[in-house]
Amino acid sequence: MTSLAFREHMKGFVDFEWDDYNQALLHGRRAGRRCEFRLAMHVADVDRFVADPEHAARVLGSVTCDELGGDLEVEHGTLNLFVDQQDERHKRMRYRLLLRDPEGRPLTLSGFKVLEDDPNLDVRSDSSQLLTRLLAGHVRDLDAERHAAVVATGILSISRTGFARLLASLRTSGGSRLSRLRALGQFGLLFGRGLRVVYRGAPVVDAQSAFPGLVPGDTSLQGHEPGQWHELPERPGVVRRIVPFAAGDGTALSLHNIRAERREPHRGPVLMIVGTSVRANILYGAPRPSSLVNALVDEGYDVWIENWRASIDFPRRDYTLDQAAVFDHPAAIRRIREETGADTLKAVVHCQGSTSFMMSALAGLVPEVTTVVSNAVSLHVELTPLSKLKLLRMIPPAARVVSGIDPQWAIRAPSTVAAGIAATARVLRRDCDNPVCALSTFMYGVGPDVLWRHENLDAATHEWVGREFGYAPIAFFKGLSQSARAGHLVSSQGFDELPADFTAQPPQTTARFTFLAGSRNVCFLPAGQRKTFEYMDDRQPGRHAYRELPGYSHLDVFFGRRAHEDVFPAIVDALAR
Ligand SMILES: [Zn+2]
Repeated sequence: MTSLAFREHMKGFVDFEWDDYNQALLHGRRAGRRCEFRLAMHVADVDRFVADPEHAARVLGSVTCDELGGDLEVEHGTLNLFVDQQDERHKRMRYRLLLRDPEGRPLTLSGFKVLEDDPNLDVRSDSSQLLTRLLAGHVRDLDAERHAAVVATGILSISRTGFARLLASLRTSGGSRLSRLRALGQFGLLFGRGLRVVYRGAPVVDAQSAFPGLVPGDTSLQGHEPGQWHELPERPGVVRRIVPFAAGDGTALSLHNIRAERREPHRGPVLMIVGTSVRANILYGAPRPSSLVNALVDEGYDVWIENWRASIDFPRRDYTLDQAAVFDHPAAIRRIREETGADTLKAVVHCQGSTSFMMSALAGLVPEVTTVVSNAVSLHVELTPLSKLKLLRMIPPAARVVSGIDPQWAIRAPSTVAAGIAATARVLRRDCDNPVCALSTFMYGVGPDVLWRHENLDAATHEWVGREFGYAPIAFFKGLSQSARAGHLVSSQGFDELPADFTAQPPQTTARFTFLAGSRNVCFLPAGQRKTFEYMDDRQPGRHAYRELPGYSHLDVFFGRRAHEDVFPAIVDALAR
């Protein structure tokens, strides 16, 4: 029997408030809250280690974190080298260290590295970053971890020289010299084969987002059971359930259903659809006393927010507005009708949730919707000359090097190209001290106040958006460029359900639309919404309305410091029409 040993030293930062890995890294780094470990890995029997699909090694050593009392001794530790997730091309390395602090209190470090061939990533960054949580007590498995109290969250990494030292530390013992050599070879082969299976061939299309859960698929349930009502600590008085549903092409999506805690809704369902790069939480998660969702619940509405295929709660994927219009929104409405028994419903739609919903409506795919409030952009796409130029000129070259852009790269860039894009945004948007906000702003336009006027946000909300912006694929920007060039929505995929030109046939909807536009929106100009109102008013006179929101830009409409006075009543009024 031949055994094998090696050493690993990883270091990074942790935070005690943020439970998102990237935010914890950002805030831990800002505050200088360091955390590191020096571990000795021991494989007792290399043959068994290679044959066992769990590939488990024993771990000894210590974790050092000043805020947690200094040196924390590893009492019992395991490393699982390559563990298949849903299939062999999605793997994780898992670390579980049962620790004790100098005062005798038990703690657990649980961490994982995500190994997947995302087109924007490289192998080294995958295998060098450990997404880490420190938990209270000794937490022995993933099941127990779901209910454990999180003490700190962060990311540790290993440098290139650290990795070279790891390799240099590899030692074998026991058996003949030949069997020791063979053991080393087997270990190297296991490592090489693991990486080859993950990274050879075409990249996977469903890589984790920048927000991986404890196990793949976890993120979209946000720690809850599907369909189960639960309280939201940040929103007292309302309850939420996350209802999974399948889009028309089978894509797994979800709805956030929010109601008053002690009152049945009496006004029927409202479907809310958010934009790209975000998730349902963007409409109610801001650290503000109220939200549009609360305002609608208070009015007696049953609120349903759609996480369509662009939601950052799902794995990264390519998508187009055509797919959302044909597959996502009609399926969401079917699911809401099944759940509520309602025949009709109302809708509040924003940005690309609005453009894609407009496509569904104009094509006659959502006849159940009677009243629609649309914010920012719908049928006509009007951009500032500079952002149009940027969109048309920068997307084709960008498409050659990345499959999409992720604002989270500003915290954790997975490749040199990603780091370059993040650095460009940082230089151009020096006015903003939130790196994710700066890169999001850079992604979606030109100038400092593309997504919100900074003066409309309080400091806590500006910090909060850092967790709420994520990946958007180049495929989406390409579709948007086509529409921007045409001046109005065009379908890009040739689905039978959609007309090639949405202005070439009468609108196949009888819904009453209110078109809202922030007067200072430079992401999509208010002129586009006004044009769509005029277009619809021409064809269905007196049915529709247009309303400008003075002093607002794009998303501050939903979480600006005065939105509860300036905007929410306008939306409530529009829904009552
Ligand atoms: Zn900012």
